[in-house]
Amino acid sequence: MITAEIIAVGSELLLGGQTDTNSVFLAELLAEQGIEVRFKTVVGDEIDDMCGALTVASKRATIVLVTGGLGPTVDDLTREAVAKVTGKSLGLRSHALRSIKARFQLAGRTVSENQRRQAFLPSGSYLLRNSAGTAPGFFLQWKRCQIFCLPGVSHEARRMFTESVLPILIKKEYVGLPIEIRTLHTFGLIEGVIDERIKGVVPASSGIRLGMLASPLGVSISLTMNHGLNVVKGKASKKDENKNKALLELYVDEISRKLVSSVYGFDDQTMEEIIGEHLTAKGLILALAESCTGGLIGHRLTQVPGSSAYVDRDVVCYSNQAKRELLGVSERLLVKHGAVSAQVAKAMAKGIRERSAVDLGLSVTGIAGPGGGTETKPVGLVYVGLATPKKTFTKEFRFHGDRNMVKLRSSQGALDVLRRWLVGLPISEK
Ligand code: ATP
Repeated sequence: MITAEIIAVGSELLLGGQTDTNSVFLAELLAEQGIEVRFKTVVGDEIDDMCGALTVASKRATIVLVTGGLGPTVDDLTREAVAKVTGKSLGLRSHALRSIKARFQLAGRTVSENQRRQAFLPSGSYLLRNSAGTAPGFFLQWKRCQIFCLPGVSHEARRMFTESVLPILIKKEYVGLPIEIRTLHTFGLIEGVIDERIKGVVPASSGIRLGMLASPLGVSISLTMNHGLNVVKGKASKKDENKNKALLELYVDEISRKLVSSVYGFDDQTMEEIIGEHLTAKGLILALAESCTGGLIGHRLTQVPGSSAYVDRDVVCYSNQAKRELLGVSERLLVKHGAVSAQVAKAMAKGIRERSAVDLGLSVTGIAGPGGGTETKPVGLVYVGLATPKKTFTKEFRFHGDRNMVKLRSSQGALDVLRRWLVGLPISEK
């Protein structure tokens, strides 16, 4: 099977300030061509470390994509490292120098000695034109491995991949059908529980890889299918593709069934988009009363174009006075149960619904932390209220994490309560 490995070069990528984003889009571009990335390495501008990474990568991958270290400065050592590992010498490429000079001329500058370094490439390598910058890339076939060296500047690397690397991969018949990824988004279940419920659903022999990603918005389950993996001989055909897609769909359905009501969306869908679709389909209008989320629920919902058709208003009310004045929550209730309580969440939801004269009122009140928690009411304790035409619901959550996490989780919890009501699922109090 054709596999790829990405090596991101640059000491700045190891210092914490700069993230290796090139590997992310390069992996995506390769996946679109059915080429699986098996390893990613980030290495500093140290020639020995770079040689080590290159030696290992070229032994285990068909395609090695190196990004960075092609610039003019002394710490740009990708050319030297590739030459050293492959036993080639660096030589001046007049064509590369000409294009560097042409680019400099356009800017009214002359090429310095340092800039000339960029035109020295390993012998036997092919120049990869840089149509977005000065540093030329290059491609070298070494043993059974194809080494492509691209600039570190993201838009240059992306352009060079599309314009120069991809045509070579196509010519060498390395590309196949895009790697299929289906994702199910869940809320309310932890990874361990999900794992237990879906254990054995996707057999290892199916060639589908299961992945789980936990975030403050819930746990997402991904099913990845590389069409090339499921073909015994040759390349995957259209018939194989259809068969594999149908199989993938089968497993997605099966996992949905096992997790029933916790699955709120698929692939690119967001909770706020799904809520918007349901509200639109049912012709319902929503008003919000937010305490510990500071307007985050309203912000998320209104990120969806057209949301003003179903979001009436969002009241952010932190003080008891605001809850009394803007939502009509009684002083008695606030004193008796405290602002963070199921009773107050209920009164907030009813209050905003009645005062706005809309179909639904959604409220949230809680302790986002880091301070403000007590033994009985710890940080992360959050109540959601949902007032509907017939009944008002409340739900208690106990979230963990810092202030930002609790706010995000609370917004997702509140939207999930609303989603459950919209699709006719039961809402438990805890
Ligand atoms: P240049 O001609 O600009 O010197 P280069 O190939 O030498 O190109 P670097 O000097 O390594 O590239 O990096 C240039 C810029 O691109 C820097 O700002 C660097 O932080 C950024 N960069 C490098 N590698 C990556 C990466 N893997 N992901 C995101 N940004 C990167």
